[in-house]
Amino acid sequence: MASDTSRQFLLIDGDDTLWDNNVYFEQAIEAFIDFLGHSSMTREQVRAALDEIELMNVSVHGYGSASFTKNLRQTYERLAERDLRPPEIEHVLQLGQRIATQPVQLLPNVAETVGYLAGRHDLMLLTKGHPEEQRLKIEKSGLASRFTATAVVHEKAEETYRAIVQERQLDPTRTWMIGNSPRSDINPALQAGLNAVFIPHEHTWRLEKEKVTPADGRLLVLRAFGELRAHF
Ligand SMILES: [Mg+2]
Repeated sequence: MASDTSRQFLLIDGDDTLWDNNVYFEQAIEAFIDFLGHSSMTREQVRAALDEIELMNVSVHGYGSASFTKNLRQTYERLAERDLRPPEIEHVLQLGQRIATQPVQLLPNVAETVGYLAGRHDLMLLTKGHPEEQRLKIEKSGLASRFTATAVVHEKAEETYRAIVQERQLDPTRTWMIGNSPRSDINPALQAGLNAVFIPHEHTWRLEKEKVTPADGRLLVLRAFGELRAHF
């Protein structure tokens, strides 16, 4: 059992840290590009057009599969080289909607590692997105009871982390953010004075990627969630 002085407060991301998420969006995008069948745009160009629409809409629609579905429809309406007919629009909508019906697939060694960590530290699940969609994923993950708190936020920015530290009266030097997104998990947490554990995931959403800022000793980079056992 860890002594009191080694007890840490661990904030843990959900999507693509505890369970697969973005891979389902990737599959929908690939199916969308096939369906669109554009005569001159490359797959990369179609993706760039979708990225642009997603970036434009995120502040209005937020994250999650319902917002993604609207973005997919908008991209279709913009790029389709044929008449916009209801059955085809419906098909595009279904590509996005079925993401929400996917099972929650935990990443390797997550269940036992979360169990181990919960016995030694305080764990808080911190995820961003559509509140109801995220709640459902937390419930389906079977991990909820391992966390002393869970929060679904609209964005994970530096202020989000500062607010959590203040509300819960945490010691930033013993608080860690663990996640796969440099933009939402790692950089804002480091900027707020926390420690961070970056666990890259091969299917991280393109709009979550950015350079990880150097952080003199406050950043740990691991290859897999199970490696946390060796550090906590
Ligand atoms: Mg994530």
